[in-house]
Amino acid sequence: MIREITKGRYEVQGKTTNKDEFVTCGGVRLKEIDFRTMESKLVPGLHFAGECLDIDGITGGFNFQAAWTGGRIAGLAMVRDPH
Ligand SMILES: Cc1cc2nc3c(=O)[nH]c(=O)nc-3n(C[C@H](O)[C@H](O)[C@H](O)COP(=O)(O)OP(=O)(O)OC[C@H]3O[C@@H](n4cnc5c(N)ncnc54)[C@H](O)[C@@H]3O)c2cc1C
Repeated sequence: MIREITKGRYEVQGKTTNKDEFVTCGGVRLKEIDFRTMESKLVPGLHFAGECLDIDGITGGFNFQAAWTGGRIAGLAMVRDPH
C-alpha cells in the first residue's frame, strides 16, 4: 500500500462520473460582503458562505474551496463578534 501511495502512477482518462462540475451562478453580490468576516455590509451580523454567494469558480475544486474557506472565516468571525 505504501509503495502504491508513494510510487503509483495513474493515467487520467477524463473527469468524474458526473462528467462536469456544477455551481449555481448568481447569489448575494460580492461587493456587499466584507471578505475579512464574510459579513453582509448591508445587514450587520448576517454572514454568508458558499453557494449563496455570487461565486462561479472554474472547475477544479475552486467552488469547494470557496465554500470551505468562506465558511471557516464566517464561523470564526461569528464566534469573535457575536451580535
Ligand atoms: C454534481 C455536482 C458536482 C460538483 N462538483 C464540484 C467539483 O468537482 N469541484 C467543486 O469545487 N465544486 C463542485 N460542485 C459545487 C460544490 O458542490 C458547491 O459549490 C459546494 O458544495 C457549495 O457548498 P455549500 O455549503 O454552499 O452548499 P451545499 O453543499 O449545497 O450545502 C447546503 C446544505 O444545506 C442543507 N439545507 C438546505 N436547506 C436547508 C434548510 N432549510 N435547513 C437546514 N439545512 C438545509 C442542504 O441539505 C445541504 O446539506 C459540484 C456541484 C454539483 C451539484
